[in-house]
Amino acid sequence: MTTVLTLIDGLRPDALLATDAPHINGMRQRGAWTLQAQSVLPSITLVCHMSIFHAVPPTRHGIMQNLYQPLARPLPGLFEQVQQAGLRSGFFYNWEPLRDIGRPGSLHYSHFHANSHDFIHGDRKLMQRAVRYVNVEKPDFLFLYLGSLDEVGHAYGWMSSEYLAQVSLVDGVVGEMLAGLPPHSTVLLQSDHGGHDRTHGTDMPEDMDIPWIITGPGIRQNHEISQPVSLLNSAPTLTAVLNIPSAPQWDGRCVEEIFT
Ligand SMILES: [Zn+2]
Repeated sequence: MTTVLTLIDGLRPDALLATDAPHINGMRQRGAWTLQAQSVLPSITLVCHMSIFHAVPPTRHGIMQNLYQPLARPLPGLFEQVQQAGLRSGFFYNWEPLRDIGRPGSLHYSHFHANSHDFIHGDRKLMQRAVRYVNVEKPDFLFLYLGSLDEVGHAYGWMSSEYLAQVSLVDGVVGEMLAGLPPHSTVLLQSDHGGHDRTHGTDMPEDMDIPWIITGPGIRQNHEISQPVSLLNSAPTLTAVLNIPSAPQWDGRCVEEIFT
């Protein structure tokens, strides 16, 4: 049983209702979900990922731009908690600044695929490698980051026809992933931030609202989450699913409402 975090960079929740996305919307029917989860400020990718993996706001982790710097006051993240518990993590990504979200030694395996301009095939190839890894190595936790949609947003604009077409394409990648994962996997699918025009980073709802959808054994089905959810809830929810301790330094808490 693998626990999977799949992150679609720059996915706006209203895009799931504005175009064909049967696989992600199907996860809502089979899981617990909200389309009103909140990003953090500034709503940009590395800042968001530091908050997702360390369950603290940017004011505490101190990363305020898409450039990693060693933390003034280091704290353990999700990868470190998994490793501390004697479990194994795999990390597949196609945006290189994410390489520092885990400390050296915390990963069983990582794979970076530099394909940011291969909008059509980049995410799919990465997903296929990740699924193969899961089925062979059976890690406890997998993080799969899909970066193409954010690139299309910057190139053509959020909610443009090109952006919505990419949402459908990435939805197909998610469908293929779900079909390829071992049965009884838990999958949390979320975004890091949304976007407007050809950018993001502000406190506008278009930038801040994100989808947060989780499916798996013991998780409620077709349940719209009523409690507030933010990026800070992801790591503690995943440690609860993995049945390992969260870090005492984390501000975020598990979204208890998702469990049956
Ligand atoms: Zn971006």
